[in-house]
Amino acid sequence: MLGSPGAGKGTQAQTIAKKYNLKQLSTGDLLREEIKNKTDIGKEIEHIISKGEFATDYIVNELLKKTIIKTEFRNNIIFDGYPRNINQAKNLDLIINSDNQSLNFIIFLKVTKEIIEKRILGRLICENCNHIFNEFDNSEELEKICCNSKKISKRKDDNLQAIINRYDEYTRHTKPVLDFYSARNNYFEIDGGEKIEVITAKIEEIFKA
Ligand code: AMP
Repeated sequence: MLGSPGAGKGTQAQTIAKKYNLKQLSTGDLLREEIKNKTDIGKEIEHIISKGEFATDYIVNELLKKTIIKTEFRNNIIFDGYPRNINQAKNLDLIINSDNQSLNFIIFLKVTKEIIEKRILGRLICENCNHIFNEFDNSEELEKICCNSKKISKRKDDNLQAIINRYDEYTRHTKPVLDFYSARNNYFEIDGGEKIEVITAKIEEIFKA
């Protein structure tokens, strides 16, 4: 699942993973988990991530490799937030091919910068079940959908300066990833500005076709 920060990758990956019994692999979640657990990696990356900059390829690739090869993840993954640059895209091909796995669908969620700002500034996350909400859209729905832990918080990197940095990082590094994939016949572009359910339906149409 490709797209800029706030494009809806996490929201869609969560929904699709649940519906099709897939494993969502979010490198952002893996990195935040390291920070939460105060590991050596976590201490090293906390400052970088809160500014909206990228973690090093080495750190991300190592965390990712550990997860991809787990039995329950094999050939059953939705990647969310990876690959984010051309090296990571090439690394993903290498890991997948050498482990006899395959990349079946490449989906790019395309959104405007205005939508991204609104979504990110309003984004709330349940610290317990990782469910993503938006205070502007569905705050009254919070308790219905989530595990009801009442631990709803904002991400540290969801502030305007960090959003601008993350968008710039995305443009600089992630756009070449789209060029890398767009010629493949399993590459699909979807309007990420649509409603959540509409986007999910479009993804499902792609799966069925
Ligand atoms: P996300 O949850 O995907 O929005 O990621 C949050 C932050 O984690 C990003 O702004 C980066 O700082 C870092 N991050 C996540 N995935 C990657 C990746 N594949 N490569 C480098 N940094 C990443």
